[in-house]
Amino acid sequence: MLDKILIANRGEVALRIQRACRELGIKTVAVHSTADDSQKHVFLADESVCIGPPESLKSYLNIPSIISAAEVTDAMAIHPGYGFLAENGNFAEQVEQSGYIFIGPKSETINLMGNKISAKEIVSEVGIKCIPGSDGELDDDIEKAHKLADEIGYPVLIKAAAGGGGKGMRVAHTKGALQHTIDLTKIESKTAFGDDTIFMEKLLEEPRHIEFQVIADHHGNAVCLGDRDCSMQRNHQKIIEEAPAPKIPKKLRDEMFEKCIAFCKHIDYRGAGTLEFLYENGEFYFIEMNTRLQVEHPVTEMITGIDIVKEQIKIAMGLPLSIKQENIVEKGHAIECRINAEDSKTFMPSPGKIDLWHPPGGPGIRVDSHIYTGYEIPPYYDSMIAKVIAYANSRESAITRMGIALSEMIVEGIKTNRDLQIEIMQHNAFKEGGTNIHYLEKRLGL
Ligand code: ADP
Repeated sequence: MLDKILIANRGEVALRIQRACRELGIKTVAVHSTADDSQKHVFLADESVCIGPPESLKSYLNIPSIISAAEVTDAMAIHPGYGFLAENGNFAEQVEQSGYIFIGPKSETINLMGNKISAKEIVSEVGIKCIPGSDGELDDDIEKAHKLADEIGYPVLIKAAAGGGGKGMRVAHTKGALQHTIDLTKIESKTAFGDDTIFMEKLLEEPRHIEFQVIADHHGNAVCLGDRDCSMQRNHQKIIEEAPAPKIPKKLRDEMFEKCIAFCKHIDYRGAGTLEFLYENGEFYFIEMNTRLQVEHPVTEMITGIDIVKEQIKIAMGLPLSIKQENIVEKGHAIECRINAEDSKTFMPSPGKIDLWHPPGGPGIRVDSHIYTGYEIPPYYDSMIAKVIAYANSRESAITRMGIALSEMIVEGIKTNRDLQIEIMQHNAFKEGGTNIHYLEKRLGL
């Protein structure tokens, strides 16, 4: 059994993992940068270790520092959360080689799925469809690229194989723009991910982003906990997520569950993971797999009653899954709004001191957040400060609850996107359900 877990992250996810550990009777070690010594989970941890200065590269991405922290505190396992080192195969490998348990998949699986080209290749093996494109890497032969783009049809998307977080993706609308788009994506990819491998995909014009949550154990068992619609996006970044995804035919959904489970078994997956798809004209096209916990996992937890973080920990302990597919019952509807410290018009980050924080509450409202009155948001990290989750029997009631919760929420001292979220809850298109990934940007005139 695990008796102490080091949480290699910060913010709301560190607190979320810590709560799961405490429920399981597991001690926690918080690691933090010098900018984060007043984080809520640091106060609540059994032990805490400062792992470096504010810059992520020297702290939350500093592998030797994190492993040393596990050594000095005698932690048995490391939970990476999401972001930072969560999808770094090298980190997972070093953690395991140093004698600790990495709470996540094997490093080989992380590497395999972390490359979008190899991920597309391997999902095809179980009959999952991918977006048409260059089956494999785009080389330097521009004539070949022109030919391929003509075949696929413009606009095409040039994507970094190692891309993530909405970065490393550019659209070429015309033949004339293709070379330049390729060059820019390569440079961006090299700078952001240290790898300039790129590929081409057709740009789907009106798709929805729909993803499937899976969990699998070391014993060959895998289940699918349902789907989520994450189409409300800006800059390829999700801002609202919901479960279940509205308006997907049941038969198709069941087929996707089966394919996702078959895929987990095919690659001997272990841990929690998400297969992401674009959905257009009644077809699902795979885009990538995230081999970690997702920001939006709470909406699935709310409708299934399954604690995904506790499952991750139990899987890491080597326990078999306690859930069988036939026992998973989806009930009601859940929506998550990401609350970011940013200007709701310009989207510029708005760090600083929170003078007053009054979280919303009431039936069906869950707030996952690390902030408190007097907390100072440092300027170095992600601007997400809270996730408000509304759960109700129907989608319509969940939207009403969310609207009320957001209107009750008070954050003073910094700017947030709360008003934008309230507005979206009132949009007729959102109320109807099934808006596509471009809806928000079009509506905002971006
Ligand atoms: P990342 O790893 O950076 O999150 P993804 O491949 O998951 O990148 O894509 C993120 C978002 O970018 C998707 O949710 C979707 O909005 C958009 N996107 C990705 N591929 C395509 C495509 N071929 N056509 C249209 N939009 C796309």
